[in-house]
Amino acid sequence: MEQNTHQSSSKTFICQLCDLTSPYSYYGQKPPNTRAIVLLEECFVTRDPFSPDKEKFLVLGSTCSLCNSCVCVGQDCSLFYTKRFCMRCVNKHLDQFPHQIQAELAKKKDRSKAGVS
Ligand SMILES: [Zn+2]
Ligand SMILES: [Zn+2]
Repeated sequence: MEQNTHQSSSKTFICQLCDLTSPYSYYGQKPPNTRAIVLLEECFVTRDPFSPDKEKFLVLGSTCSLCNSCVCVGQDCSLFYTKRFCMRCVNKHLDQFPHQIQAELAKKKDRSKAGVS
């Protein structure tokens, strides 16, 4: 039996880099049931399951402004610098990011290398 698409079937967000999978309730810049919250970018948003506060929500991820991949907001998957970039595009265009960002990414890489033994 086929379900009608406009029935409230739960939508699923999947990060294309780390495969994080989570249902989301809203995609956009202004989550419903929140007062005066406008996000800097269009995001995949879900209600915070651990909070009784209806206005609390979690940002799961967003879409890369260059390649349109869905990526989570984890530091290993994406970077927000005026727009959302997935790490694949960041690495591809690293020279176009400011030095500060490049330095931060280099630091992160060093740290993850140090963590592997
Ligand atoms: Zn991810
Ligand atoms: Zn990308």
